[in-house]
Amino acid sequence: MTAADSRSLKTDQDQDETTRAAEPAAVSEREARQTAEAAREAEWRKPSFGKQLFLGRLRLDLIDPWPTPSAESVAEAERFVARVAEYAEAHIDNAQIERDASIPDDVLRGLADLGAFGMKIDKKYGGLGLSTHAYCQALTMLASANSSVSALLSAHQSIGVPQPLKLFGTEEQKSRFLPRLAAGEISAFLLTEPDVGSDPARLATTAEPVDGGYRLNGLKLWATNGTVADLLVVMAQVPRSEGHRGGITAFVVEADSSGITVERRNAFLGLRGLENSLTRFHDVFVPAENVIGREGQGLKIALTTLNTGRLSLPAVCVAAGKYCLRVAREWSGARVQWGRPVGQHEAIATKIAFIAATTYGLEAMLTLSCLLADDESNDIRIEAALVKLYASEMAWRMADETLQIRGGRGYETAESLAARGERATPVEQVLRDLRINRVFEGSTEIMHLFVAREAVDAHLAVAGDIIDPDATVGRKARAGVKAGGFYARWLPALAVGKGQLPRGYAEFGRLATHLRYVERASRRLARDTFYGMARWQGRMERKQAFLGRVVDIGAELFAMSAACTRARAEGTAEGWELADLFCHQARVRVDALFTALWDNSDARDAAAARKVLDGRYASLEAGILAHDDDRPWVAPWSTGPSEATDVRRRLRR
Ligand SMILES: Cc1cc2nc3c(=O)[nH]c(=O)nc-3n(C[C@H](O)[C@H](O)[C@H](O)COP(=O)(O)OP(=O)(O)OC[C@H]3O[C@@H](n4cnc5c(N)ncnc54)[C@H](O)[C@@H]3O)c2cc1C
Repeated sequence: MTAADSRSLKTDQDQDETTRAAEPAAVSEREARQTAEAAREAEWRKPSFGKQLFLGRLRLDLIDPWPTPSAESVAEAERFVARVAEYAEAHIDNAQIERDASIPDDVLRGLADLGAFGMKIDKKYGGLGLSTHAYCQALTMLASANSSVSALLSAHQSIGVPQPLKLFGTEEQKSRFLPRLAAGEISAFLLTEPDVGSDPARLATTAEPVDGGYRLNGLKLWATNGTVADLLVVMAQVPRSEGHRGGITAFVVEADSSGITVERRNAFLGLRGLENSLTRFHDVFVPAENVIGREGQGLKIALTTLNTGRLSLPAVCVAAGKYCLRVAREWSGARVQWGRPVGQHEAIATKIAFIAATTYGLEAMLTLSCLLADDESNDIRIEAALVKLYASEMAWRMADETLQIRGGRGYETAESLAARGERATPVEQVLRDLRINRVFEGSTEIMHLFVAREAVDAHLAVAGDIIDPDATVGRKARAGVKAGGFYARWLPALAVGKGQLPRGYAEFGRLATHLRYVERASRRLARDTFYGMARWQGRMERKQAFLGRVVDIGAELFAMSAACTRARAEGTAEGWELADLFCHQARVRVDALFTALWDNSDARDAAAARKVLDGRYASLEAGILAHDDDRPWVAPWSTGPSEATDVRRRLRR
């Protein structure tokens, strides 16, 4: 048992003044939802393609013509990505990082010299001031060299200190911190705790106001870069008191402040080079000038940061798609079984086509979202969430299919392949490294709820009070009138559209048929969402399987729109073919999702799950050895000074 374990097992009586058992906050489902709702950006100041899509309006004009960055910005991006590629090829050794489970110091130094730590930081603070598109292209390139490297840079810039400061920081904070980060100091983002995963309302780390600032106490779990970071964004609860509105607040914290201990470096299924920590805060003083935004704004800052920050994970997924395509092409052409290259057997051919089409669709979706973020014409919060959700799910499927195409060799490590004299193709590593994308920065389930909330926002805005159990009769009546007016205009508009015209979207040539489908499907989606709301009313938010399908249909329709628009803008024969292929495949998925909206086993499944949880089918688990022990699922912990050895890795700079 480690010192840290023994601390965790202390009883209440053992605890002195400096040590307090951290009871998981008793937060009701309702309070958790209220916390999430309060953090939500309620306003829409710019148009949103995604929002309109869920309302049954295909606003192609918002994404077509394809946004065109300035020639200067394109040239700058190309130059930088070429330098990154050259550096990565010469210095980033994937096999070594995989073997040592560590990114060497000199690689981090080299990346800092390239400016990779300041890709998204304005030039005036020493950064490169690259566009979101260029940043994502560079991440795609780096992810192809090693996923832990791209994860480090993405956590540093997309959720670490630079992005929240860019959006919410004061000029003084920017000048104080950004030049350090641009030069290669590393940042991390610390929200998660043992009892706080998807649900931030349970946040237990406290920031108590003291003279000149705050005193932080708590334990933060799974902070990517936490073992090597110089600057941290820490989310902590400020108690409400006189002069303090309180609430979850974001702080910039110097990682070597007194009272901070990196108690563990966590290890995972994949991303073996990830520098991910368990970090304890004991009476850590943070000056008041390090609060980002205002007290109580922490979650809103985190969510707003993620609006564009979420695009970095799809950039990594695009890299995986491209790599899978290459492996699938080369291997399936070379490997002969049953008298033909395996790529010529239909079962494998369909997988290859899926990987090719999906990589094209995914890249179109990501690039479009990046360009929309850069030209600032659209609100892309729905698009970014859809790309994150779709990319993480589809990249996983692509990697899984690639492993299948490779057969037994797909399951074998690159090191083992090389030792037998075969090409060291790390498909199993790709699969392992990708898996976490479906969990972090908003799990698939949470992204479904996030997008669904935005998808039904217009309905809640006009009819929310009708289904709100707390609304007074007067509010319900007023909402009834408002809803009547809205639906009288909106519902008829869902009956007809350009998608029914034989020559609708003719400017898209052979792809016009797909855009007509998207237009019709968008109206159908809006109608089905409305039926769902009318049927389940206040219970709709519990219909997660239904809502998940609604969102998945939206993601496919967005991907199809992006693929068609991209093909038209590029005007290459390959592009037309791939967009066409992608749309054909997506339509099969969308049709199945529409069917499953109303023809499914959801209610049965929910009832069965309750029985499983009640232990009714426990006998089914007999006949195996359970490899668990009897320790708790979530280790109890207490505040107080650390008894663990600090495992922070200090880089040679
Ligand atoms: C490698 C790695 C790196 C990470 N990096 C960071 C980091 O840098 N900073 C940081 O703060 N955190 C980080 N995290 C934490 C990560 O963001 C969380 O793992 C994630 O938010 C999910 O939380 P959880 O694991 O506690 O799952 P839980 O919240 O316990 O959820 C368990 C399951 O239930 C589902 N679920 C939860 N609530 C609902 C709901 N209301 N409806 C439907 N389904 C639900 C989830 O989707 C999940 O499938 C990292 C985690 C890992 C593993």
